[in-house]
Amino acid sequence: MDNRSDKFVFVPFCLMAQAYQAQDIVKYEWKSAIMPFMQVLLENHINIIQMPCAEVEFQNELIRKPKGISKYDTIEFNNHCEKLANQVACQVDLILKSNYKVIAILGIEQSPSCCVNYIYTNQGMQKRKGIFIQKLYDKIKSYHIPIIGINRKYIKKSLEELKEIVGSEN
Ligand code: SF4
Repeated sequence: MDNRSDKFVFVPFCLMAQAYQAQDIVKYEWKSAIMPFMQVLLENHINIIQMPCAEVEFQNELIRKPKGISKYDTIEFNNHCEKLANQVACQVDLILKSNYKVIAILGIEQSPSCCVNYIYTNQGMQKRKGIFIQKLYDKIKSYHIPIIGINRKYIKKSLEELKEIVGSEN
């Protein structure tokens, strides 16, 4: 008898550990994990894979000032994200090859590395993916896995999207 769940969701590192966020931007009610998303995943027995934090791993330090996407968009940071995206894409491949399911990947809107739909810049809002998420998306897009961007200020929409996907898999 084997009782495991065959469903996986990949989450940004900081979804489970807000202390990995840049300084002064953990303003909402969740001090550590962003609880409502974790609750949905745990209550529905979803295996959770914590993706690496591109920014912390790049500078090898947790404490950092927030920086805009133009500051991150360097050859070095792109190469670093490419490596991380390869690692995560290999994990996705392995899971799918094992006949398990990756039902969603989560990102964090407005992050230069992990946004899914938009980021605010000096030139206003740009519709684009973050550097890490874009590279990951390019490697796994053929699998058509939904990628959901979390706006930490207004979580309702992304939470509903996640609930809908989880519900349809049950
Ligand atoms: S780089 Fe990604 S995982 Fe790291 S703190 Fe920013 S949004 Fe979270």
